[in-house]
Amino acid sequence: RSKIVVSCIYPVEQPCEVYTDSARVREDRGAVLMLLAARAPESTEIKALCKQYGAMDGSRFAPIEGEKCIMCGLCARACASLGTGAISTVMRGTSKKISTPYDEPSSACIGCLSCAKICPTRAIDFAEDEKKRSIWGREFELIRCKECGAPIGTKEEIEYAAMRCGEEPTYLCPDCRKKKMADVMAHAYGVE
Ligand code: SF4
Repeated sequence: RSKIVVSCIYPVEQPCEVYTDSARVREDRGAVLMLLAARAPESTEIKALCKQYGAMDGSRFAPIEGEKCIMCGLCARACASLGTGAISTVMRGTSKKISTPYDEPSSACIGCLSCAKICPTRAIDFAEDEKKRSIWGREFELIRCKECGAPIGTKEEIEYAAMRCGEEPTYLCPDCRKKKMADVMAHAYGVE
């Protein structure tokens, strides 16, 4: 007995043999990719996978023009797991999308880019220069490490992370923080 299952949510049973690249799996993957290509016709990642799996022509499905999002929900889950919850799925049916409440800039967003970095199709737009970062309709000031000057993130994300750890924000990059900790340890143990 065998069946196709969604690997990320299927509980493993014993005894069990798992095939991830059989002809049947590849065929089903191609069918799913055909549908995803209609959902997100602008995604280069989905186009490449369609080619790799020989996905069928899905021209009978009306494409959502200009769309890159495949509605996997990873971005909203990442945001929720941080405790910020600035974005979620909104609307229904073919209008369903990921957004902030009422498509307005959200005060819950800390500009950390977790959503954009986890997105498999790079569907979340953001912009960044030396001084600021823009995402979800908001602009954030970028803070630099007070020791070495390297950019370390937005003021909001640094302060939020410190608050979650019950600490005061240090405004140091990871390397300078490690160096400072090593200096504190060396001083504590009397090492020069
Ligand atoms: S992670 Fe990207 S593809 Fe997935 S729902 Fe969010 S925006 Fe869409």
